[in-house]
Amino acid sequence: MNVLLTGGTGYIGCHTAVALTQANHQVVLYDNLCNSHLDVVDRLQTITQQRLPFVQGDVRDTPLLIKTLQEHHITAVIHFAGLKAVGESVEMPIAYYDNNVSGSISLLLAMQATGIKTLVFSSSATVYGDPRYLPLDESHPTSVTNPYGRSKLHIEDMLADVAQSDAQWRIARLRYFNPVGAHDSGLIGEDPNGIPNNLMPYIARVAAGKLPYLNVFGNDYPTPDGTGVRDYIHVTDLASGHLAALQALSLSTQPLHTFNLGTGQGYSVLEMVKAFEAASGKKVPYHIAPRRAGDIASCYAQAAKAATELKWKASRTLDDMCVSTWKFQSAR
Ligand code: NAD
Ligand code: UDP
Repeated sequence: MNVLLTGGTGYIGCHTAVALTQANHQVVLYDNLCNSHLDVVDRLQTITQQRLPFVQGDVRDTPLLIKTLQEHHITAVIHFAGLKAVGESVEMPIAYYDNNVSGSISLLLAMQATGIKTLVFSSSATVYGDPRYLPLDESHPTSVTNPYGRSKLHIEDMLADVAQSDAQWRIARLRYFNPVGAHDSGLIGEDPNGIPNNLMPYIARVAAGKLPYLNVFGNDYPTPDGTGVRDYIHVTDLASGHLAALQALSLSTQPLHTFNLGTGQGYSVLEMVKAFEAASGKKVPYHIAPRRAGDIASCYAQAAKAATELKWKASRTLDDMCVSTWKFQSAR
């Protein structure tokens, strides 16, 4: 397939580019570089031994999208492009709705104009809100508490309407749990600007001596050690989940699919610290800090639907996640 990856130079996009290229798909990267760097294209060349076409553009630029879809004879799109920081979305809701919701409408218009009807969308476990039961299966009710989550849910709902309107669409809404880790080469990974919001990149910088200690946000949650529990998934497994979704869509007779991409296993903040110390051989000092506003105690996936219908399962361990993160961090 000829696959356009919007947000293709971002963290998950570039790992998916490797997985698709190695499975002999033709990948085109489309990104405005607002949260990634052009040197990712060189790094992808080193990993895949191929120069992937890159278009610098915004997903809100419908004419440029149409031109790109046509010029590269695209047959499917994976839509990663968007803004993703919860706290920032509370401060800048308009930017979030503009990038995420208007960007998705622009993409749908471009796909409609070019007759391309196969789409994989990056959604998030955040659409489940505060879990009513665990593990979270795909039929758990949705609810959101911040503009980022609301933008994802709006897009999910729009995609359901699109699928309902025309049975020729093949749409997969993938709800990611907590992507972490890096490519085995150490060449690509997650390198946020400024102080990281997320746990794993924060721990990595503490281990590297770039930050003095980790703030553990709360140790009084109803979890085994009192710290928050999440379903961390290796980004390379997540990338192969996209490949599996594309393959499933090409065989499907149904227009709309929704899958959790997680491992089904939760780890606490303190378990993550311990695992990272073991993988890196470095100490990760931490302080117990107050709970972070909006955080939930535990969140992990019921991963059975993807296993049955996509024939996909995450296979990498917590140690693999920490070792690859440390390799990438050490190379920075
Ligand atoms: P990322 O920021 O590394 O990648 C997103 C890419 O999209 C960046 O390269 C950015 O430059 C680009 N982009 C943003 N707005 C754009 C626009 N208007 N036009 C063109 N390009 C634009 O983030 P990521 O972690 O790779 O996430 C990819 C997708 O997965 C996002 O939609 C995110 O919401 C979703 N997601 C991420 C996580 C996570 O924890 N990383 C969890 C759940 C869902
Ligand atoms: N966390 C923490 N310190 C940090 C960042 C995160 O204790 O500096 C905790 C957070 O409270 C949550 C878990 O780590 O329990 C995962 O947080 P992250 O922001 O990575 O993911 P999300 O909250 O989106 O699941």
